[in-house]
Amino acid sequence: MLSFEQALSEVESRLTAARIVPATEVMPLSQAWGRILAEDVSADRDYPPFNRSTRDGFAVRAEDVKNTNCALTLDGEVRAGEYFESEIGPGHCVSIMTGAPLPGGTDAVVMVEYTRTEGNQVKIERPVAQFENVVLKGSEAEAGKCILTKGRRIRAGEIGLLASVGKGNVAVYLRPRVAIIPTGDEVVAVDRQPEWYQVRNSNSAMLAAVVASANGIPWEAGIGSDNKETLRALIEKGLEADMLLLSGGVSMGKYDFVEDVLQEMGAEFYFRSVAIRPGKPLVFGRVQGRFFFGLPGNPVSSFVTCNLFARPVIGALAGSRFERPGFLRARLAKPARHKTGLTTFMPARIETRDTEPVVSLVGWQGSGDLVGVAEANSFLVVHPDQPPPQVGDWVDVMPMAS
Ligand code: AMP
Ligand code: MG
Repeated sequence: MLSFEQALSEVESRLTAARIVPATEVMPLSQAWGRILAEDVSADRDYPPFNRSTRDGFAVRAEDVKNTNCALTLDGEVRAGEYFESEIGPGHCVSIMTGAPLPGGTDAVVMVEYTRTEGNQVKIERPVAQFENVVLKGSEAEAGKCILTKGRRIRAGEIGLLASVGKGNVAVYLRPRVAIIPTGDEVVAVDRQPEWYQVRNSNSAMLAAVVASANGIPWEAGIGSDNKETLRALIEKGLEADMLLLSGGVSMGKYDFVEDVLQEMGAEFYFRSVAIRPGKPLVFGRVQGRFFFGLPGNPVSSFVTCNLFARPVIGALAGSRFERPGFLRARLAKPARHKTGLTTFMPARIETRDTEPVVSLVGWQGSGDLVGVAEANSFLVVHPDQPPPQVGDWVDVMPMAS
């Protein structure tokens, strides 16, 4: 059986080998939040485009103000959105506002707080070094320099940067459509009143949320029953999408037919289980050109495996690079029971206490417990070769991405 890391590497290399490049569309920047950039973007001019003052004060020649208590002659004023026409000679200065270009001849700004003005004489009470309180022309980016590369997720910071270089419209990748196919004779639609022996289909809605947050378009294709013919018809329908997320029917039960049906449809299986808990019976492969995951049906197993394995695949199909889940470190606040041998992901809450990150398990009842998951904001991760963590130990924590 593959370890957690081996299974992730397997997924990553299968995906890389498939060389899937999504199509692109151009859209207004105002609608592009969360999408993946599909073009390299360069600076259209120097940033900043001029030597810019970062303070309200006086633009000076730094060598004039090496000593405190010197006085300079005030030549005028320059505000943001204006520029000062003439060169400033030795012994002179100009009143300047934050965001304004430094007048020719000046190379530093003295903050107004460290000056005293009497008539046209400005007393400088603190010396400044050359370029102090100034951002030099082109120091953030020179004209023509690539500032964002394709594959970058467009978050608020990227939107600001794209706006600053005049990209009112941007090319982004099309989002992959992901078919979500829950299976199980006991699973009924959310808007139906289940019989006492049935459960509502919580997995589809939850998986759809993960898909959407990973830049995919979720498509809830219908509920599959534990019957080969109907399952096959539903999976065939699901092939209209770019990827399939099946849940349930991948364990050792007599009516777990998902793998059989996929096999009959000519699927290639890259792995059929992973040494993780929860989520051991995770299946990954490709059928008729589409990657698929057979996620275990237990809601928490489905949630964990979808986040760990399907999320980076959806992200990559959406045009970003394959991002392995990242861990943080925190101190274990309360005892945590766990068995070794598998990489274990337990719903937990991480918070900062007395400036230190601490983590504790939520009251979790096992792999069906969505109450516990809803309370959690992360997973406590225990590695297979790691001794059981003790209170106060630094442990790995995986933040919940969605
Ligand atoms: P399975 O993986 O098919 O053996 O299912 C494992 C457990 O998860 C069973 O208790 C199922 O009832 C439950 N389960 C399977 N699919 C879903 C679903 N779509 N929504 C909620 N629970 C499910
Ligand atoms: Mg089942």
